Amino acid sequence: MSTESTTAEPSIKVTTTPTTTSLRPWIHPHLTHSVNPIKGRQLETSHPIKKGEVLLIDTPYAIIPAVDAAGSALLCSNPQCNRLVSPNTGQSCPNRCLADVIWCNQTCRQTDQRRHEFECAWLSRYATSVRSKRGEYNFGMLWLIVRILARQNTDTLLSDLAEEQEEESNPGFQHGWEAIQSLCGSTETWSHEQVRSWTGLAKKYLGPAALPHGMNAENVLALICKEEANSFGLYPRETGIFHPLPTPPVDRGEQFGAAVYPRASIANHSCCPNIIHKPDGYGRMVFTASRDIEAGEECCISYFDMTQYIDVKDRREHLQTLFRFVCGCPRCAAEEVPGDNDLQWDAFPGMD
Ligand SMILES: [Zn+2]
Ligand SMILES: [Zn+2]
Ligand SMILES: [Zn+2]
Repeated sequence: MSTESTTAEPSIKVTTTPTTTSLRPWIHPHLTHSVNPIKGRQLETSHPIKKGEVLLIDTPYAIIPAVDAAGSALLCSNPQCNRLVSPNTGQSCPNRCLADVIWCNQTCRQTDQRRHEFECAWLSRYATSVRSKRGEYNFGMLWLIVRILARQNTDTLLSDLAEEQEEESNPGFQHGWEAIQSLCGSTETWSHEQVRSWTGLAKKYLGPAALPHGMNAENVLALICKEEANSFGLYPRETGIFHPLPTPPVDRGEQFGAAVYPRASIANHSCCPNIIHKPDGYGRMVFTASRDIEAGEECCISYFDMTQYIDVKDRREHLQTLFRFVCGCPRCAAEEVPGDNDLQWDAFPGMD
């Protein structure tokens, strides 16, 4: 792809790219999804796939720049653009709601006017105090939720039409708000402590007095649970290089954003993934086969940088803490230490 980062040579050569140059999502005709009784939804192939083939290019439903990357490039706020923009050259909001809100140019700013209006007052009112009182992580989470709600509230007739066309070209995959609602993750997925903290944040910052979204508190909390279980961190280089695991480790670089994707979120985790993922220059998530994949095989990504968590115990602890499940992938099963009962197997919440 023309937007490929030049700082690190991709580990595999991309041999199939979609013919369209539009920023619509693209799904390989042989990529399907099904429901596994234990793991919930999963991606799989209907035909053999060759190493290097692109399987999915998904557009974000909502995306934010990394809020703690001070001084680095930001993302154009226009959801049809999402390009990296230098803070020095982009257009800021006339209301000065937040320094992290920027557009490439006047056209992007005008195109995004209606959507941004939804978040502008909220950002002006809460951004500074949330950041100082609740920290960058919670601010980023809340802003991503606000952008999801902004998208849901401002999807225009035009985008509905685009979505209809999309449905025709990608049968079987949900899109838009419908796809967001069917993401895995609920209050059961997370600890009581975590849910209590989000309930407090939602009440204070996402209530009807804070944002005109027309959703009740229970549904806002459910949305947070889904977003936290499914959002992707955006890094400049690939995640999930495994065939072979590179030595020395490949650094993914600084996280520059976070996003929620309607279709990429279906992918489950494996510590020996057959898919690598990496955002392109428009905030789209690109899945590429890292080895030949047989028909009917599940397509998995890695939810974290595997070059940082080598040991099976480290990997499992990391997944348990961040994603609330115990990994039972073939690699973990093979590397399992007999008699190691440190982890609570009954804590497996199921990812759906
Ligand atoms: Zn733009
Ligand atoms: Zn603004
Ligand atoms: Zn594993």
